[in-house]
Amino acid sequence: MFNRRSLIKAMAAAGVAGSAFGLQACSNNVRSTSGKKVVVIGGGFGGSTVAKYIKRYDSSVDVTIIEPKKTYMTCPGSNWYLAGLVDVEYLTHDYESLKSEHDINVIHQMATSVDKAKQTVTLDDGQVLAYDRLVVSPGIDFRWDAIEGYSEEASEILPHAWKAGPQTELLAKQIKEMPQGGRFLMVAPPNPFRCGPGPYERLSMVADYFKRHNPTATIMCLDPKNKFSKQSLFMGGWRELYGQMIEWYGAIDGATVTKIDVENKTVYSEFDTITADVINVIPAQKAGKIAFDIGLTDDSGWCPVHQGTFESKLHKGIYVVGDSCIAGAMPKSGHSASVQGKHCAAAVVTDLNGLDMPAIRTVNTCYSLVGSEYGISVVGVYEPVDGVLKGVEGAGGVSKGAASFEERKKEANYAFSWYQSITKDIWHS
Ligand code: FAD
Repeated sequence: MFNRRSLIKAMAAAGVAGSAFGLQACSNNVRSTSGKKVVVIGGGFGGSTVAKYIKRYDSSVDVTIIEPKKTYMTCPGSNWYLAGLVDVEYLTHDYESLKSEHDINVIHQMATSVDKAKQTVTLDDGQVLAYDRLVVSPGIDFRWDAIEGYSEEASEILPHAWKAGPQTELLAKQIKEMPQGGRFLMVAPPNPFRCGPGPYERLSMVADYFKRHNPTATIMCLDPKNKFSKQSLFMGGWRELYGQMIEWYGAIDGATVTKIDVENKTVYSEFDTITADVINVIPAQKAGKIAFDIGLTDDSGWCPVHQGTFESKLHKGIYVVGDSCIAGAMPKSGHSASVQGKHCAAAVVTDLNGLDMPAIRTVNTCYSLVGSEYGISVVGVYEPVDGVLKGVEGAGGVSKGAASFEERKKEANYAFSWYQSITKDIWHS
């Protein structure tokens, strides 16, 4: 039965509340939400977490996830797949536990439109669902017009593999079939994009694979940025593990790619015109399409939200979490999406129950593999300052610059443990 005490216990257990999070700010004016409907668009890291934790905090809320895919393949770990360290099964999760153990309705359809006045969502098959609160977590979409010559069709030849699934398998196949001594080229994305360290973990995992199967291959990255997440740790690891195999060039070198000739596998930039055997183009990004359709985005192409509740700044009663939202200094990651999902669930439940949402303090953790037994990590702690999530000074940090192979191996093991615990928390417990 729902009451203030059970809500406090559930939020504390989720690690998103407790005295340190200001839960004492909740009012005593609690009533049951019985019969209230929440619809969640997207069953990835953000959406699945919101749905599950709303039910945990207040089981009387009727929660429905709209997600076209019957199983969800995670992007986290998909770089490990390119190196052959894990298989597709390891990365794939179903919705059975959310349905049977948490009493969440899961409808495998696309949400095609939202009527904000009537508070309804229309699905691909014509069904119309009413909601009291709507949560949107559709991940990213690509800015296909950002590089001349590259398009959605072109990604079937030069894959992005930035949404896990058939694209990941296509890139893995191309890597395996690359001629001995061939060249792998990555076109890295501009900020902001999902998973700051992701492209550089990918370069590392491709090198790990080549070191074992194609030792004379070369790897090049053309990047429109001058710096990237955990840069010195990645570059130090590359030198230690792969010698000169990975060459990285940034904006300062003129490495911003302006044009791609897909047929001839040639990439143009001021730095040089480069032809490669396998080209992985990670395009510029924006919020998922449905966020634009609903009118939740601003000129930046992302969704402004109140950074303590994740309620849209543009539409009351609609919340946005995960990659699509603007969350201050918090990076766009699966870990961020999931903790935002827990805060958002608390905000929805407190709102439906006439309680004040407690102040939040939140965290992101990101492990990357530089080699199969060489891990590095970064942790950030964030709290809203004047309405914007800022890093808490002195909290969090990155792996040591100088560390023994034993320490790097431990961090690699932690990376696999992180993956197992977050996916279990979201989809399997
Ligand atoms: P997603 O998880 O992408 O979920 C969005 C869901 O919404 C999708 O399943 C989609 O089908 C659905 N959807 C979209 N539109 C609609 C619609 N109209 N109707 C219904 N459903 C819809 N993060 C980490 O924390 N750690 C890592 O190690 C890590 N590694 C990564 C490695 C790579 C190569 C990449 C690309 C990303 C990595 N990430 C990592 C980032 C992480 O994958 C994303 O940040 C995370 O998935 C964001 O969660 P989300 O809920 O916003 O979006």
